[in-house]
Amino acid sequence: MQQINHFIDGAFSPSDSGKRFDKRSPVDNTLIASIAEAGRTDVDRAVAAAKRALNGEWGGLTTEQRVDLLYGVADEITRRFDDFVEAEMADTGQPHHVMTHAFIPRGAANFKVFADVIKNVPAESFQMATPDGRGALNYALRVPKGVIGVISPWNAPFLLMTWKVGPALACGNTVVVKPSEETPLTTTLLGEVMNSVGIPKGVYNVVHGFGPDSAGEYLTQNLDVDAITFTGETRTGTAIMKAAAEGTRDVSFEMGGKNAGIVFADADFDAAVDGIFRSAFLNSGQVCLGTEKVYVERPIFERFVDALKQKAEAVKYGRPTDSDSNYGPLISREHQNKVLSYYQKAKDEGATIVTGGGIPDMPAELAEGNWIEPTIWTGLPETASVVKEEIFGPCCHIAPFDTEEEVIAKTNDNQYGLSTTIWTTNLSCAHRMAAKIDVGVTWVNSWFLRDLRTPFGGANQSGIGREGGVHSLEFYTEMRNVCIKL
Ligand code: NAD
Repeated sequence: MQQINHFIDGAFSPSDSGKRFDKRSPVDNTLIASIAEAGRTDVDRAVAAAKRALNGEWGGLTTEQRVDLLYGVADEITRRFDDFVEAEMADTGQPHHVMTHAFIPRGAANFKVFADVIKNVPAESFQMATPDGRGALNYALRVPKGVIGVISPWNAPFLLMTWKVGPALACGNTVVVKPSEETPLTTTLLGEVMNSVGIPKGVYNVVHGFGPDSAGEYLTQNLDVDAITFTGETRTGTAIMKAAAEGTRDVSFEMGGKNAGIVFADADFDAAVDGIFRSAFLNSGQVCLGTEKVYVERPIFERFVDALKQKAEAVKYGRPTDSDSNYGPLISREHQNKVLSYYQKAKDEGATIVTGGGIPDMPAELAEGNWIEPTIWTGLPETASVVKEEIFGPCCHIAPFDTEEEVIAKTNDNQYGLSTTIWTTNLSCAHRMAAKIDVGVTWVNSWFLRDLRTPFGGANQSGIGREGGVHSLEFYTEMRNVCIKL
């Protein structure tokens, strides 16, 4: 069994207290690793190392030198691609092709893209007139914010963690990362990469543990952490924001969603079915951008429900390494119980269960895993809990609609506002809808098609701030204006 330790000041170390916790495989719940659990002293040690590194060799590098090092990180991730794929599969239980096509390549891209952004971003400059006629020149310098606390979730661990670490380091900050307790492996492996490409000690640190009364909370409470970037549940964001109020520290939050998929009768039918299927069931529905409420224009409603049902019933459960499996388990027993409780609620609220609704029959060797059926409901009112609350599982409710106004109102009746996916061949309609739906990201005739230079984030309770491209620089740097009287 693997022993996973913290990565602090360039070295792997256990907790001062010797405390550890277990990591189990989502596939069969066998024990796969023992993880060091950080106490406050471990977290403080990591933050102190990150603070020292700001004033050491790292702080003295030019942008070009930093960019070269980050290209090196991306290349080394690619060189050790199979190690990352294996670690992420062990942590999440998700299929091999999800790792090789999305989760791991995106991790490498997060270092390259933000190195390019910082290298190419222009400086802001304004000339101004002065009464003596000689004028003045203003220009803005971008300086790193300092030590960034990165708190990340389990659903796409490497992709989501590097999405924060890439720009934070590109901007010259140092980081202390607290990965999810459910998925510690790839974040730890990245420590080896940092050392082998020569990232100075203390620039990238990792502490393991849980949220409240554990590593996550200790990290947010350390006042030498200058800003906190967080991805996870909205109620966790609320707790972190309270902690960040002490010392008035900046936050960037990417949080929950209850995202709608909207299919018009004029859509390319097969493409829409494929797109909604992916958006509802990829990663076993554990995607923040995933679709859990689908609205289909009435003339194609029944045909659409039937086509989605057929696809949902054709998923192939199995280990990530099985070449014909395309559908993995949920991350943990606890999450499986949460999603099953929503399956029960849907039943109690009178849903028509089109397919699924329970645990699939699995062969004996996988019977202890966190498996769950892809599930489709119809027939519920908009007020039903499975239509309103984020479930974060492989399930969706499908309802018919008749007018644009009606579907916009239903989509916007939402405490969240992360993303939406619209399927239509009528571009005027797509533009009208995109302007009126209250979310951070709208896809038309696609889903999860990501250009890392674009603004990403959520409206309402789905987030605070935008990251991506130059928008990340707004969070990871301080702008300093220099005014020179000529
Ligand atoms: P979570 O909020 O339970 O945990 C996320 C991280 O926060 C973990 O590392 C956890 O240990 C830590 N944490 C928990 N309580 C804390 C506290 N009090 N102080 C400091 N840290 C604390 O979320 P999760 O279950 O890991 O992830 C699923 C959630 O993440 C879903 O709601 C999903 O929508 C959201 N998500 C959002 C995005 C996005 O881009 N908007 C992306 C992925 C996931």
